[in-house]
Amino acid sequence: MHALEIPLTAELERLAAAGLTRHRQRLDSPCGTRAVVEGRAMLAFASNDYLGLAAHPEIARALADGALTWGAGSGASHLVSGHLRPHAALETRLAAFTGFARCLTFSTGYLANLAVTPTLAAGRDDAIFADRLNHASLIDAAQLSRAGHHRYPHGDMATLERLLAASTAKTKVIVSDAVFSMDGDLAPLPELFALAERFDAWLVIDDAHGFGVLGEEGRGSLAHCGVVSTQTPAHPRILLMGTLGKAAGVGGAFVAGSEIAIEYLSQKARSYIFTTAQPPAVAIALIKSLELLQAGDERRAHLQSLIRQLQAGCADLPWQLLPSQTAIQPLMVGDNEKALALSQSLWERGLWVAAIRPPTVPAGTARLRISLSAAHTHDDVAALIAALQALA
Ligand SMILES: *Cc1c(COP(=O)(O)O)cnc(C)c1O
Repeated sequence: MHALEIPLTAELERLAAAGLTRHRQRLDSPCGTRAVVEGRAMLAFASNDYLGLAAHPEIARALADGALTWGAGSGASHLVSGHLRPHAALETRLAAFTGFARCLTFSTGYLANLAVTPTLAAGRDDAIFADRLNHASLIDAAQLSRAGHHRYPHGDMATLERLLAASTAKTKVIVSDAVFSMDGDLAPLPELFALAERFDAWLVIDDAHGFGVLGEEGRGSLAHCGVVSTQTPAHPRILLMGTLGKAAGVGGAFVAGSEIAIEYLSQKARSYIFTTAQPPAVAIALIKSLELLQAGDERRAHLQSLIRQLQAGCADLPWQLLPSQTAIQPLMVGDNEKALALSQSLWERGLWVAAIRPPTVPAGTARLRISLSAAHTHDDVAALIAALQALA
């Protein structure tokens, strides 16, 4: 072992001793509920492909045709020479769909989040107010800023109100997941908007798990809660981030907002400026995906009926499902090793459900993250319930 590797090995051993080593599973099939994992046929409840679009043949064809027409790469960042007509068309489509004036697209949601909060609240006299359970990319985004970073307990509007009232910051930014990625619950979006109004703050919402799943035609959590509507343009203080690799089934992300806010981000956000634009064929595939997503009421209704079936079937298990009306249905176990053992026992029965442990979730709250998809059948969910009951 090289001397440089000694502290690395010590840390890896510490992770292993705490039951926190993560292992990648190699998927030998396209993303889907019927997955071949390390050569083994599995029923999968482990992806974020909530509408079952990731392997949709029409989207795959759009991607292939898009590559034949527009080539493989964009060749540069958007501001240099990498902004192609498919990117522009996707921006227009997403802005209209979400009810915002304008939007920018990004290669990943991680990059999109890095673009927003630290660009709006950059200086020492600014302040960021964040839910404690926000996604890691939002936490990292806040760390890129010199602004004060105030984290309030999950969903605690009284504490947020107190922090905002006490703040003398020049620019205030409230930032929250809309649907929390490891709990599946919804942020109190109308209350967050009301506080943003009262204290004249920006409201940055990460709708990675609500976009495509919630709201009329899958417009997302803000539409679901009535904070934005198709009748009136969205309020300029709101910035919406949505990812396109989950329900939309492809990859990438967008940030939507007012004309001026989006122009500002396009001029100032380093994670927009200093990165190559995503391949144009991806934008073509996403335009097809949005068409299917928007027409996907049947998929969304089926997903909701699977959620109700799972909740009824898990009612008398020794582990509790967290209250969630989304495709993310976490079964709380608590102990790291126990969560891992339960996931392992399901695996042996041909069911793939990820165990989620710290640091992804707080210590003592290890869980199975059951992820449902409109591609599941009622028989699939019944098989999962039967296995959980047998293991209880
Ligand atoms: C997945 C996720 C992201 C990151 O999106 P990617 O496109 O995967 O980089 C950001 N925020 C939340 C809440 C997420 O779940």
